[in-house]
Amino acid sequence: MKCTIVGMWGGFPKKNGPTSGYLVEKDGFAILLDAGSGVAAHVQNYIELNKLHHLFLSHYHYDHSVDLGAFLFGRMIGTYIDHADKHLNVYGPKDKSISQQVENTRFNTFHPYDENSAIKAGPFTVTFHKNTHPVETYAMKITDNEGKILVYTADSSYRKSLVKFSENADILITECSHYAGEDAEKLGHMNAEEVALLAEKSGVKKVVLSHLPHYGKVDELLQTVKSAGIEEAVLAETGMEIEV
Ligand SMILES: [Zn+2]
Ligand SMILES: [Zn+2]
Repeated sequence: MKCTIVGMWGGFPKKNGPTSGYLVEKDGFAILLDAGSGVAAHVQNYIELNKLHHLFLSHYHYDHSVDLGAFLFGRMIGTYIDHADKHLNVYGPKDKSISQQVENTRFNTFHPYDENSAIKAGPFTVTFHKNTHPVETYAMKITDNEGKILVYTADSSYRKSLVKFSENADILITECSHYAGEDAEKLGHMNAEEVALLAEKSGVKKVVLSHLPHYGKVDELLQTVKSAGIEEAVLAETGMEIEV
């Protein structure tokens, strides 16, 4: 499978730089993980909206979900004018107002998931880990039909259960919201030292640092992780393609 990073900033977008959005593709089939600010516009650099039928939302903080409305209207209007032939399937934690928002916009369908769900979409199976974050939030594990594994942490504090969930991943896309020494735990996030620990203990093959902060020098996040002995680590960038 291939993952294209559509956006990777935490909190709010930069100029031409969206917040969370990860397009995962295999054999001409695509799923999108998260729909942060700017993702609906920027994902069209890689795929037509009418060809994307599966959108997985990790949680409903704005930097992960605010473009949901754009995707819903995109499918409704796209069906009228360009004859999109399938519904957009939106998967997310159970939430009455979100499910109504999706279901009340024609040609869109909502599917709630939780930590016990295993959702099949084309060549992918998606499973979930309940994170520690101020709102209900899930990490996602995408396993393809060849057994390759991508884990996306979304937003979370460091937890041993997240280590366990990430074991055997070929690629770990992890949030890295704070610098070494900062108290990320109390905010429901991870600092670079905790990310290094997650990478080391889970034994993942490669780490992509994402959900990056708008302050400081982000290269220092990478230095912290690498100096902890994690050599296969990179900073996420808009447009970066990762072969899994
Ligand atoms: Zn976030
Ligand atoms: Zn969040």
